[in-house]
Amino acid sequence: MESGEDIEQTNLGRVRRPRLGPLTDLDGVGPARAAALLQLGVRDIGDLLFLMPLRALHGSATGSVADAAEQIGKEATVDAVVEKTSLQRFGKRSTLRVTVSDDTGSIVALFFNQPWLRKRFVVGEKVTLRGRVALQKELVLLSPKVGSGAKPLPTAGDIAPIYPSAEGVSSAVVAKLVHIALERVLGNGDEAASGTPTTVSITDPIDARHLARIGVPPLGKAIRDLHMPTSMDAFLAARRRMGLETLLELSARLQERRAEAASSSRALRVAIDDKTELETRARFPFTFTSAQARVANEIRADLGRAQPMRRLLQGDVGSGKTALGAYAAMLVARGGGQTAFLAPTELLAEQHFDGLRALFARAGLHAVLLTGSLRTTERRTVLNQLSSGMADVAFGTHALFSADVEYARLSLCVIDEQHRFGVAQRGELLEKGRDAHALLMTATPIPRTLALSVYGDLDTSVLDERPPGRGTLRTRWVRGADKRKVEKFLLERVAAGERLYWVVPRIGESTEEALEAAKGDAITAEARFERLNKTALAESGIELVHGRIARDERAARIERFRRGEARTLVATTVIEVGVDVPEATVMVIEGAEKLGLAQLHQLRGRVGRGKKESWCLLFGAPSGSARFDVLVRTNDGFEIAEEDLRARGMGDLVGLRQAGENAEGLADAELDVDLFLTARAIVAEDPRAFEHYRTLASSSARTQA
Ligand code: ADP
Ligand code: MG
Repeated sequence: MESGEDIEQTNLGRVRRPRLGPLTDLDGVGPARAAALLQLGVRDIGDLLFLMPLRALHGSATGSVADAAEQIGKEATVDAVVEKTSLQRFGKRSTLRVTVSDDTGSIVALFFNQPWLRKRFVVGEKVTLRGRVALQKELVLLSPKVGSGAKPLPTAGDIAPIYPSAEGVSSAVVAKLVHIALERVLGNGDEAASGTPTTVSITDPIDARHLARIGVPPLGKAIRDLHMPTSMDAFLAARRRMGLETLLELSARLQERRAEAASSSRALRVAIDDKTELETRARFPFTFTSAQARVANEIRADLGRAQPMRRLLQGDVGSGKTALGAYAAMLVARGGGQTAFLAPTELLAEQHFDGLRALFARAGLHAVLLTGSLRTTERRTVLNQLSSGMADVAFGTHALFSADVEYARLSLCVIDEQHRFGVAQRGELLEKGRDAHALLMTATPIPRTLALSVYGDLDTSVLDERPPGRGTLRTRWVRGADKRKVEKFLLERVAAGERLYWVVPRIGESTEEALEAAKGDAITAEARFERLNKTALAESGIELVHGRIARDERAARIERFRRGEARTLVATTVIEVGVDVPEATVMVIEGAEKLGLAQLHQLRGRVGRGKKESWCLLFGAPSGSARFDVLVRTNDGFEIAEEDLRARGMGDLVGLRQAGENAEGLADAELDVDLFLTARAIVAEDPRAFEHYRTLASSSARTQA
């Protein structure tokens, strides 16, 4: 890629991607479609080549209806002729029945709640259908995929990549455009004359030796295999090579930042004497646990240096991390600096603010909350207080680093639940607060090697002790008829003045498809609230909170629950973090099997905060329940996180699959520690590769912003 022939800086600032012209050069792309493609991060033809398919569909052998009859419970593909169609409607729901037949018999394809599909079937025409075979009153294919002469399904040996879609460009249109783009490059390639080209003429900036070690093809071949794979193995290897691309950009950025931090001596030095330190601790309404005291000492020592602190604080839910974040902010304020206290959601930022402002106020410090729901005048006031230095601590989401937010002397960033920020967001945060101290907090432990490769050289602290005075917390599954018995128990607890959380993951209107998929148990929080209001629980008051309720109203409802004016709180997972009501002793979680282990553990951390014995009751039917055993067995968040990590892979953990970054399409299987370590080693060893990916990373960060 050093030749500069087919590679050039585009006017968008993205460098060293093949320059193949604007999207509108392609047949079938006008300004509207080009705009639609922009939603996928595709700005020009070169970007199309780098667009990662979400996955690939394996073609399979096509058979007769009689063959399909042998495949009950499994997938089968049939080639047959449409005999008749019929559409039955039940209110908003519908079932489309398409009977197809061949010489060997007939089978009925069933499509649910997609009435518009009817016009795709013309009696007498041939179709290919692929789906799961079931024997109901007759032989059926459940919601099969449909291929026809014009739009065939991949057949045996074929592998069809499936692309992300956006409004205005379906996955199929994207696939078509990628192919047109690919043919252009292949057509221009050296191999064009010698038959079927197998590689795009792009020089891989990575040394072949590295690529061989991790078993991935060079970039040119990877691009070809990504879009026109000859085998599933080739496709997966290509995806790994493209995944490496992302990790190389990330590693280059981290290395750059690491070098800067190591050489920086521009952080605020806060020299805290013993007396001040004791005073600061004494402001808390409790004595620090010995684990907290140890970490407090580490933080104090870090803040005493001019080199910025980069500390990762790991500790289970309720271990007292937030308190240490507040402690650090207080020390920094004593030294004349400001703190940005970041949370992944506005709700959590609000809860931190509500929970800590009084503590700060008693210390003579002024805390502000900066969220998207502030009115213009309020926002202006807050911004003024930050830029004038009147505010000591700002709570908010990553919007605390929006372009219009200026700080008089930002000296510390506390990042709570840091794993819930995307990689790009986190990078942005650390870049903007480059010379500030940073304390990153997480309840999801990160293996050491991974922490190194993803976050750079962070110092780590662990809170391995729970604050005293906590009762036991037990977790049990409750199934079917046992729910009746539980009702009585719940009534007893609220009658005794205790509080009950009732968590329902869903809110809002249920779409037909979602209900179908959830097989009817997808009750919404609103619906549960209505139903509970018809039971005896209503006598002690019930409140409802979810993300679509305005902040003031939400806070008022939680406050009524806290005071006991309402003893039951129906909520979505918005209460996952932050809400702190010691009288709460029971949590019911509906549809628990749909949530991840780490999330369930976070949720149940809302109970068991007082001295009384507490219960977490999981409503639902765990399939593959072994995965959930760990929740029942232990309250140790680290053990649970490990189990979760095993189940979900690393993508979630490192935040690469956070909202907005899905387009990168990295699947868990392709994101292994090996790949991270390789990326890290490459940018460390090879200055040219480092320079290449550093430039790419900073140009993509600029165009994203
Ligand atoms: P985390 O952020 O790790 O989940 P928090 O800092 O929110 O934990 O603490 C959970 C609860 O425990 C809060 O109500 C907090 O006030 C309380 N807490 C924190 N540290 C102590 C302590 N040393 N002794 C008693 N209570 C504590
Ligand atoms: Mg916390």
